[in-house]
Amino acid sequence: MDSADYFDPADGADMLADRQPARTGIEDVRRGALRDLSGSLTGQVVLSGDPEWDEARQAWNLAVDQRPFAVALVESVEDVVKVVEFARAEDLRIAPQATGHGASALAVLDHTILVKTSRLRGVEIDAGARRARIEAGALWEDVVGPAAEQGFVVLHGSSPDVGVVGYTLGGGMGWLARSRGLAANSVTAIDLVTAEGRFLRLDNENEPDLFWAVRGGGGSFGVVTAIELELYPTPELYAGAMLWPVERVGEVLRCWRDWAKTVPDEVTSLGRILHFPPFPDVPEAMRGKSFVIVEAVLVGSESEGAALVTPLRELAPIMDTFAAVTPAALQHLHMDPPHPVPGIGDGLFLERLPDEAIDTIVRAGGPPLVSLEIRQLGGAMAVSSEHHGAVGTLDAGYVMFTVGPAPTPELAAAVRAAVDRAKAGLAPWESERTYFNFSEQPVGGARLYPRKTYTYQRLRKIRAAHDPGEMFVSNHPIPAALVIEVARIANTPIFADLPAAELDALAATMGEVELDAGTEVVALDDSGSTVYLIEEGEADVINPGGPTPPPLGPGDTFGEIALLLTGERTATVMARTPMKLLALSGPDFERIRGQIPALEGSLRRLGLERISR
Ligand SMILES: Cc1cc2nc3c(=O)[nH]c(=O)nc-3n(C[C@H](O)[C@H](O)[C@H](O)COP(=O)(O)OP(=O)(O)OC[C@H]3O[C@@H](n4cnc5c(N)ncnc54)[C@H](O)[C@@H]3O)c2cc1C
Repeated sequence: MDSADYFDPADGADMLADRQPARTGIEDVRRGALRDLSGSLTGQVVLSGDPEWDEARQAWNLAVDQRPFAVALVESVEDVVKVVEFARAEDLRIAPQATGHGASALAVLDHTILVKTSRLRGVEIDAGARRARIEAGALWEDVVGPAAEQGFVVLHGSSPDVGVVGYTLGGGMGWLARSRGLAANSVTAIDLVTAEGRFLRLDNENEPDLFWAVRGGGGSFGVVTAIELELYPTPELYAGAMLWPVERVGEVLRCWRDWAKTVPDEVTSLGRILHFPPFPDVPEAMRGKSFVIVEAVLVGSESEGAALVTPLRELAPIMDTFAAVTPAALQHLHMDPPHPVPGIGDGLFLERLPDEAIDTIVRAGGPPLVSLEIRQLGGAMAVSSEHHGAVGTLDAGYVMFTVGPAPTPELAAAVRAAVDRAKAGLAPWESERTYFNFSEQPVGGARLYPRKTYTYQRLRKIRAAHDPGEMFVSNHPIPAALVIEVARIANTPIFADLPAAELDALAATMGEVELDAGTEVVALDDSGSTVYLIEEGEADVINPGGPTPPPLGPGDTFGEIALLLTGERTATVMARTPMKLLALSGPDFERIRGQIPALEGSLRRLGLERISR
């Protein structure tokens, strides 16, 4: 992913010069308290009007005009704890940020302290344990070299100056993604400061729910102060790019797609359209020109790699940089901009990439966009494991990302329209899920996870347990689940007779789900253990090929019952009006069903009642 270096970063910074509104008396009092806080930190709090203000609030993406209440430049875990405690006491929110690569989807930062971790850049490599311990502000370029010196590679992405923590919390898809998987799934431990100001070490044994949530759930759960990642012994690497004139884009992308389907999981590759800017620091052969490009990394020897890329070479590229490389070279393969730039971009997952989708890319990928790329997914990204975090697996075939420069409002509007056109054109092949890290505009959190795994519901409950007041501001927030009142469940006839303790247990386990009219819901997952109670709204149960079951309304329950109604393992419920449901799903259900005899009985009766309707 990239936006080429079209502009002097100073242009973007000027655009964002401070124009703060007049302050109120309460804000003056708070500013005084923040000055006191600043004096107690190793780091520093910067406020509007301070000489460092514009620099402190600037994001890597210069098109984003961040206007927080204050910026805390933290230098230690203790600093983070103090800032979080202050925010709690003052009813302020906290937005953790390392670089601001992911800043464009962030909400308005009023009443928010932007906690910048950029001064925390320590990296320790433990070769014996094959672990890297990385402080929250470290960039990938801080890690790649030290890891390589000790004989290891890490799962970094296309750009050396992306933050390790932000990238990893959102999934983290890099050059070894098809062979080694997503970075979030290679995290071994996380240090985190919670909304209560507690410092926790998260791993499989300590706070396993939070550990799971942060690995794919983003920055909604606390401020990460350090992360530990698995290191992989450096393999032989063969990597490079081939370039053709952009006029051949359709032909080359089709060939790349067909080739990529045949290669082993050791190959991670992408096809892209790239319009190089007309600037002196761009090599002359490429300056101001447009190309279709295939970039790939092959884990294997030079001879294996050379044999694998032969079908691409037969297309006679005008430039071919494929060679045996060191891990450090991978950081520059994608030619991402080496310093902050103003850009607008967005992405989506594609189920498939038929010829018609490539035709759409050919039509949509021109200026003002700088780059439109398609990465092949699959391989280790699609292999599930019980050790994975919330990111789980990626089941789509491809991911698209496109971006363009936004140094002025006019160009920003033109690029936004071009990005939207590209997305709309590719909508017929788009997955339901979208990729956290490539979503540069706000998306509903539910779209970031597969529906059938209930990941989003579980994340919401974990958020409610650790940050019910939603102190933390993430670029893709996971809202805290509402606490389910016992009385609401007791209103459902089938559960009305449950003993109080069992109702409490049920209420503690259920989550709330809101559905818009027309949403299809899989009522029964593969393990057959999901129950929904309908609080408001109506729904039809769809039973393809079978009799039409009666519609469901408030007080009705579906889930196991849908199995009984339709005789299928999976039934689909189509909401007619906006619905509010209480859901008891997979793992939660299993956790309580054996322990609660009356509940078990209630669920059995539930099935019998509905089948007799
Ligand atoms: C040029 C470029 C190349 C990219 N290449 C890739 C790629 O190859 N693969 C890929 O998967 N993604 C890629 N991305 C997307 C990138 O991974 C996301 O933008 C990511 O969020 C950047 O992390 P950051 O820390 O640098 O950004 P930031 O904007 O600082 O952080 C993004 C979010 O992460 C969370 N966060 C950051 N630090 C903390 C913390 N200490 N505690 C809690 N939460 C925190 C916050 O919610 C924050 O809003 C790229 C982006 C750009 C602009």
